[in-house]
Amino acid sequence: MSTPWQRTADGANLLGPDGSLAVTIFEEITTLAGRHNAINLGQGFPDEDGPAELNRIAREAIANGHNQYAPGKGIPELRAAVAEHQQRFYGLTPDPETEIVITTGATEAIASAVLSLTCPGDEVLTFEPFYDSYGAMIGLSGAKHTTAALLAPDFMPDLATLENSFSPRTAMVIINNPHNPTGAVFPVEVLSEVVRLAIKYDAVIVTDEVYEHLTFGPRHIPVATLPGAADRTLTISSAGKTFSFTGWKIGWLSGPAELVAAARTVKQFLTYSSGTPFQTAIAAGLRMDGSFFTEAAATLQRKRDILSEGLRAAGLDVLSSQGTYFINADTAKLGITDATALARRLPELIGVAAIPVPVFCHPDGARRTRSLLRFAFCKKETLLEQAAGRLATLKDRL
Ligand code: PMP
Ligand code: GLN
Repeated sequence: MSTPWQRTADGANLLGPDGSLAVTIFEEITTLAGRHNAINLGQGFPDEDGPAELNRIAREAIANGHNQYAPGKGIPELRAAVAEHQQRFYGLTPDPETEIVITTGATEAIASAVLSLTCPGDEVLTFEPFYDSYGAMIGLSGAKHTTAALLAPDFMPDLATLENSFSPRTAMVIINNPHNPTGAVFPVEVLSEVVRLAIKYDAVIVTDEVYEHLTFGPRHIPVATLPGAADRTLTISSAGKTFSFTGWKIGWLSGPAELVAAARTVKQFLTYSSGTPFQTAIAAGLRMDGSFFTEAAATLQRKRDILSEGLRAAGLDVLSSQGTYFINADTAKLGITDATALARRLPELIGVAAIPVPVFCHPDGARRTRSLLRFAFCKKETLLEQAAGRLATLKDRL
């Protein structure tokens, strides 16, 4: 049996066949982008701060002495704001005392959920491609990571065969909607089928909805609002993407008290609590007018369109993105069969960085996605236009 760190690394595809250890693809590509002074469309972080008002509240909280440990489950004001947010947008009514916990980003919420509820002998099902931290935490828990493919061009699962990915050992299904890295936003038919199967196989649902406010047309449907789902669903979200403060690392999870208590038990020994002054600011953020949330999505949609146009003009096939910070482009037309190798060359070659999609897959999925690159469009429009200009040179430089 391998050691816990090896299972973690292996789960996120960081262990080479010779036992060599890599850092996450985000860190690797961001480092390469820095070295070659490239426009970093790899790791998903905005190049502009979020609302100045939230910035001011955080600074004031620091100045006013809100600098010691927050309660383990989060400051009451933020838990109340999360509850209000769930009610205002979705009609959900979690109890802020027992059904909400504030975490150090969605990353810690994912770790707490997976590590508290799964163990060797269990299976944990995700769609594929999958966000890397799911693989890492499933590996650390000792459970087996099973997958159901999302298929290009629209990255939906095949509902007729989805049940084949479930088994009596399926203890947890992790949904990520809107979906990183593909930009898919799942319609009610997909989500309802997952819920039906989770009930049939008695699996807990963990739903990572960090991009809940960033959809470009389709309405975001929280899994917990679907019939039969709420009792078995832990919902995870985070301030990073909605408010463009990815470095503040404030996230939360909510769900039925027993599941939240399980996750909280583990969470309190991962970090105990997180960023007191930032929690105060995010409580104000969650209470902002509806127009803030709709404008954030509209701005991002314009950015998506600028980058899509640039990628198309560069001769790539652009796949649909209905949400998130990301869009996928297929480099097959340029003769590329190894997007991972290309992503490692791209910063030096044309001064643009992107993330290869195969790294979010097991071997079969990696073959299916071998020519796909993920580009982040959460950047200033002028920078996206500049990136488009550089991408246009790719054909000739390969
Ligand atoms: N889940 C998904 C799908 C993500 O893309 C990210 C990255 N923002 C996270 C979780 C981690 O979120 P956080 O930065 O709040 O830990
Ligand atoms: N969620 C971000 C992305 O997908 C990166 C987060 C990280 O660096 N771990 O690009």
